Amino acid sequence: MLKTGDEYRASLRDGRVVLASDGSRVSDVTTHPQFRDAVDTVAALYDMQHRPGTAEIATYQDEGTGKPASRAWQVPRTKDDLVARRELARLSTYHTFGVFGRPPDYGSFNALGLLSVADRIAPSSEEWARNIDAFIDWGRANNAMSADIVADVQSDRSVPTAQKPGRLRCVEERKDGLVLYGAKPCASGAVHSHVGTVVTLLTPGADPDANLFCYVPLNAPGLTMVAREPVIMPGTTDEHPLDVRGEEPDSLLVFDRVFVPSEHVFSFRNEEMLGLYHELGALALWHILARLSYKSEILAGAAQAIVEVLGTENIPQVRDAVSEISAYATGLRAHVLAAEDTAAYANGVLVPAERYVTAGRLHSVENYPRMLQLLREISGQGLISRFSERQFADGSVGEMLTEFLPGTGVSAEAKNRVFNFVWDLTCGANAMRVALFENVNATPPAAMRARIYASPYRRPWRDFVLDHLGVDISAAR
Ligand SMILES: Cc1cc2nc3c(=O)[nH]c(=O)nc-3n(C[C@H](O)[C@H](O)[C@H](O)COP(=O)(O)OP(=O)(O)OC[C@H]3O[C@@H](n4cnc5c(N)ncnc54)[C@H](O)[C@@H]3O)c2cc1C
Repeated sequence: MLKTGDEYRASLRDGRVVLASDGSRVSDVTTHPQFRDAVDTVAALYDMQHRPGTAEIATYQDEGTGKPASRAWQVPRTKDDLVARRELARLSTYHTFGVFGRPPDYGSFNALGLLSVADRIAPSSEEWARNIDAFIDWGRANNAMSADIVADVQSDRSVPTAQKPGRLRCVEERKDGLVLYGAKPCASGAVHSHVGTVVTLLTPGADPDANLFCYVPLNAPGLTMVAREPVIMPGTTDEHPLDVRGEEPDSLLVFDRVFVPSEHVFSFRNEEMLGLYHELGALALWHILARLSYKSEILAGAAQAIVEVLGTENIPQVRDAVSEISAYATGLRAHVLAAEDTAAYANGVLVPAERYVTAGRLHSVENYPRMLQLLREISGQGLISRFSERQFADGSVGEMLTEFLPGTGVSAEAKNRVFNFVWDLTCGANAMRVALFENVNATPPAAMRARIYASPYRRPWRDFVLDHLGVDISAAR
């Protein structure tokens, strides 16, 4: 049930088709230079399931089988389950420094979200509702990692949604399943996942054939993952402490008549499902917020490290910057805790309150660029006065680098290491890819604002104000 890192690597050698940006087909993602470091980083998380100290966080005793299983596939039934689940998010975030938005513990959330809206699915088909349970059991039994397949390909907006040539749709309905054709974009982590969970939640106006909820093994015949170009910088662990852990790959999934057996279908042509983004996605969005709250702790930790090695911590304006990053981290945590405290059951699944998740996410996304900017600001030239191990080893010049560039209480080499880390976190191409990810991976801020505006909880506040003023506008509404 619980894979080791090596078993995880072996499971990816399954005939999947990945088209790399240099035009080559990748025969083994676990050894390919663009993907292997990320595979190793994820493999280490699989190993943690077996290691004392982390196994308690990453696994739980499954009641159904009586065996230990990955907590990623545990259905949250109690507040303690949510807290334990968040601890797992902390583990993976600290391990990846938050630059992997789709760690293995994330991927089950679409399945759990489907379970939480099963009452909307069962009236159309009891079989589809049973398929959700079976998928969760399968994911747990196989310690599987799933990629989110949600967004639609970006193409000519003057063409109506229902006619877009690239939309993923069923082109043949067979007795035993559906045949899919089209594409899905930006599938983060798919290259090193086992399956993709397809949900049609960002496509208002989708035609019935494109209204699909199902899962697809990423080695399915006819499926090609077209990977984006690599963004990480080559270098040693000292030179690029974060980039050496690899980049989370994004890829366009091209479906060329991919067969999806009926047992993998959760919903098809059910119009009501198209409007359930926030209901179905609530757990995933909570996890995204929790991950960013832990990542912001790392940002605040980096800020403190910077000012201490530079000896700038007594400058009031520098302190203000560190405080702001620290307050950001605490603010995000507060939203996460409030969402858990007011969680409610949906079909037996305990789901954190969307109200705090959406408001927290808006705050997290809008302010993320500012946090990176504050880190850059307090770093000054440190971000470019960084030198390689070979330069430090270069005879007399290397010795002078060591002599001329020490930090406060630390050697030049140690200070260099701090800024190499901050570079990877805030400036490098992978940092920018991660910033793009944070900005839109689960809808851009505009969509969150629209959702908040549509929420009912302002109503009593508005009534209080109007009642106090004696203004009655009910007739006009
Ligand atoms: C690095 C990265 C990783 C990603 N990973 C995944 C993933 O794993 N799985 C997945 O499914 N998707 C993923 N995405 C895609 C992401 O979900 C979409 O980018 C996002 O939902 C926005 O959709 P779009 O890109 O199609 O934007 P478009 O619809 O093309 O719009 C472009 C921009 O126009 C603006 N805009 C468009 N429509 C509106 C509107 N109605 N109101 C206000 N503003 C609007 C927004 O600023 C928007 O960003 C990823 C994206 C990135 C950049």
